[in-house]
Amino acid sequence: MTQHNYALTINGQRVFSSDTAQAINPATEAPICDYPLATREHLEQAVSAAKKAFPAWAATPITERQQMVSQLGDLIEANQEAFINLLITEQGKGRAAAEWEIGGSVYWCREIAKQSLDEEVVSRDGDNEIVTRYTPIGVIGGITPWNFPLLLAVWKIAPALVAGNTMVLKPSPYTPLCTLWFGELAQTVLPPGVLNILSGGNELGQWITEHPAIGKIAFTGSTATGRKVMQSAATNLKRLTLELGGNDPAIVLPDVDAKAIAKDLFWASFANSSQFCVACKRMYVHEDVYDDVARELVAYAKTVKVGNGMEAGTELGPLQNKMQYDKVSQLLADSRDAGLKFLLGGTPEQKPGYFIPVTLVDNPPEDSRVVVEEAFGPVLPLLKYRDIDDVIARANNTEYGLAATVWGKDLEKASAIARRIEAGTVWVNHVHVFAPNIAFGGHKQSGVGIENSLHGLAEYCNMQTVMRKALA
Ligand code: NAD
Repeated sequence: MTQHNYALTINGQRVFSSDTAQAINPATEAPICDYPLATREHLEQAVSAAKKAFPAWAATPITERQQMVSQLGDLIEANQEAFINLLITEQGKGRAAAEWEIGGSVYWCREIAKQSLDEEVVSRDGDNEIVTRYTPIGVIGGITPWNFPLLLAVWKIAPALVAGNTMVLKPSPYTPLCTLWFGELAQTVLPPGVLNILSGGNELGQWITEHPAIGKIAFTGSTATGRKVMQSAATNLKRLTLELGGNDPAIVLPDVDAKAIAKDLFWASFANSSQFCVACKRMYVHEDVYDDVARELVAYAKTVKVGNGMEAGTELGPLQNKMQYDKVSQLLADSRDAGLKFLLGGTPEQKPGYFIPVTLVDNPPEDSRVVVEEAFGPVLPLLKYRDIDDVIARANNTEYGLAATVWGKDLEKASAIARRIEAGTVWVNHVHVFAPNIAFGGHKQSGVGIENSLHGLAEYCNMQTVMRKALA
């Protein structure tokens, strides 16, 4: 697929732009191919196509819309191997991780396609009736990041279309290829204008969020950009779903067997090279087991194969882009300058590709940058605690509230702690479990609204109450 001539999809057509940019393979820093940058004119064409397609799509019986969304999953599955290779090439992740994302995209299309929101009869008395129903909003603007490019696009496209909306979606300029190709394939199933895909830079994102004919923005990205999105969306009071950043804590209780859970703790933090909104980014370990957990984590980390995702057995790839590589390198340099101690890693190697070594920081001060900031790279501070109330206060002492984990043999105790964490998802003794029927969203500045589940589907709808009374 890398030889493919990637195009925008507008009104069912492949459209090219005189402006282009280069997609870069993060494992080698070699160019993959050029892709089109949409102009304002392209956005106007896409929005008017989506607007024109909306009435017929909204009037299409939901069973037919569901069937078409399910067929989008079939299209990905039929091209699974090519999608996996393209994802590894443009995003950098290892093969197993790419299989998880592409398989997940198929699964989400099929499962979201089974969802619907029934009318609620509030009361009925003879001919008198009060009914609340769910109606589509219109044209949805979707904006996605570079860590899970296809899956996070599907998380938006599938419910938006099932609910009867049409869409203009923009992938990240760092990882546009899987989404552009998916958009093209989707035209074999969907009527023209229902799903339009425009690749472009950050300014295109801003134009989408300001556009007066778009009724809702479904955005996944950083908290800083989320604030800008909310501001520009105010122009016409757009509905918003914002899935933003996190600084997720893990609390490891004193009754754990460090060796038994080291693998799970490692992946809680380092999956996708920690470019995961719900990666554990601060690990609080009880002082009784701190040394054991630190030792076992280091031992496990040394068994993990880091490299080019195309090489067999690679478990962790590079960071996805130079901007993020420079940001994390600077964070490590600042940490070294501050005299922090590393149990592992700490200094990027000088070799092609945006590789940052797995880095474990030994009990840094609570106010150090590695603790306070979302690194979005493989840098994990291990922090000692003694008292439960104190560690819960430290875990909650952040502007973020995306997810958290608690690890302990005493399930009642661990669950009681989980309920005191200010986060949208708290996992006890496991991590990163997502499903189309499980509500996912952030507290505090990690987001607004919910994705997945019927709550997520409802966010692509207006609620309408119709009350009728018979005339005498
Ligand atoms: P980002 O905010 O830089 O970019 C996300 C998208 O927004 C890109 O498509 C970008 O082009 C676009 N964009 C940039 N400026 C814009 C503007 N002014 N208006 C509209 N759109 C604009 O985020 P990123 O670096 O691509 O992704 C990493 C971030 O995403 C991390 O903070 C991570 O935690 C977060 N994330 C959150 C979730 C979640 O579900 N909560 C999931 C994945 C990633």
